Amino acid sequence: MATNKEMIERREAAVPRGVANQHRVFAAKAKNAEIWDVEGRRYIDLGAGIAVLNVGHNHPKVVAAVREQLDRFGHTCFQVTPYEVYVRLAERLNALAPGDTPKKTLFVTTGAEAVENAVKIARYHTRRNGVVSFSGAFHGRTMMGMALTGKVAPYKAGFGPLPGDVYHIPYPIAYHGRSEAQSLQALEGLFRSDIEPSRIAAIIIEPVQGEGGFYAAPATFLRALRKICDEHGILLVADEVQTGFARTGKMFAIEHSGIEADVITVAKSLGGGMPIAGVIGKAEIMDSVPPGGLGATYGGPPVGCAAGLAVLDIIESEQLCARATAIGTRIVSWGESLQKATDCVGEVRTVGAMAAIELVKGGDAGQPDPDLTKAVVADALKRGVILLSCGARGNVIRFLPPLTIPEAQLDEALAAVRESVLGLADAVRKAS
Ligand code: PMP
Repeated sequence: MATNKEMIERREAAVPRGVANQHRVFAAKAKNAEIWDVEGRRYIDLGAGIAVLNVGHNHPKVVAAVREQLDRFGHTCFQVTPYEVYVRLAERLNALAPGDTPKKTLFVTTGAEAVENAVKIARYHTRRNGVVSFSGAFHGRTMMGMALTGKVAPYKAGFGPLPGDVYHIPYPIAYHGRSEAQSLQALEGLFRSDIEPSRIAAIIIEPVQGEGGFYAAPATFLRALRKICDEHGILLVADEVQTGFARTGKMFAIEHSGIEADVITVAKSLGGGMPIAGVIGKAEIMDSVPPGGLGATYGGPPVGCAAGLAVLDIIESEQLCARATAIGTRIVSWGESLQKATDCVGEVRTVGAMAAIELVKGGDAGQPDPDLTKAVVADALKRGVILLSCGARGNVIRFLPPLTIPEAQLDEALAAVRESVLGLADAVRKAS
């Protein structure tokens, strides 16, 4: 088999550089929380394909469900010849989505496509154009996804013009000195200075920001948004693409706040590795778009739906919400011990198993350390751990292990990351 070096050369010749690769090793096989590269080296995967593998790589039940579906058929297009797995997965999600209002679900293929459709539905239903999102948000790489995303480089720069009538307000982040009250004031300011609330179709929010840095919106903030939306006839859209499916210790992250969203976007871990995404919403809202207004050739692919049903079964039977909480507790105690050993870990935080450490200089929240963060991610790979960074300032290391990871592997990976952080903290600081 080819070496990683040979594969990188072929990749550089054949694939545009705009699709950046965080790690320059090529996967050959994977099982639960482990990946082996083309040279046979083993890694513990703390990134889970960016929050896709809450049930681990190749969970036997997901593989069996996909095989069984493929034996029957791979594709018909739901708009042409519908199939039962699509309806069954919709029924399951409608029942699971928080809140008493009856729900309906539309399936698509990617998170960005789910976000696009959520905005289409919200605009159609309200007959309004405006959409409010947050600084640091990430909602995808399509035109509306980019417009809603709250970080210019590298996601939006050079790709305009983007859809209009999109407004950003600050996401509340206590660690950065941005309070919930300040965010709410910014929303009021927006209503005064830029657009009247009666022209806003939706406010879209990640209950815990993913790419933005694993910051959780306080429950009181989400409840305040719910109230403002109700007062003004605005739809509240929860983007649960990264937070969904037991990652935060609940099936959906908004359950921590007790609110009912009007619309929820889902993707990633729903498919356990198969492409599937969806828009779950209050039935009356979802039904406002007339026939033909929604859909896609591959929307809700049969293998994705079959995998989704298996994933929901696994979350229940393996009690992955409780596992997420236990994993998060373990990562936090590891992080707090690391924090005692070095001043470069500014904050350790988690919601369930959506855990992160924020790397700063001299313990100062105002001095992010993206260089150290990059160096740690690269060094951890050498030690056999796949890590991901995130954060609007590029200084957060996020932990997204499969929720099925054996404890010994989690501990092994965390011990390696500790070595990386402690080994590099001084070296990087001296060099910069
Ligand atoms: N929304 C959120 C919150 C995400 O984290 C992502 C992907 N990181 C997306 C939307 C876009 O999903 P996809 O990459 O599947 O289009």
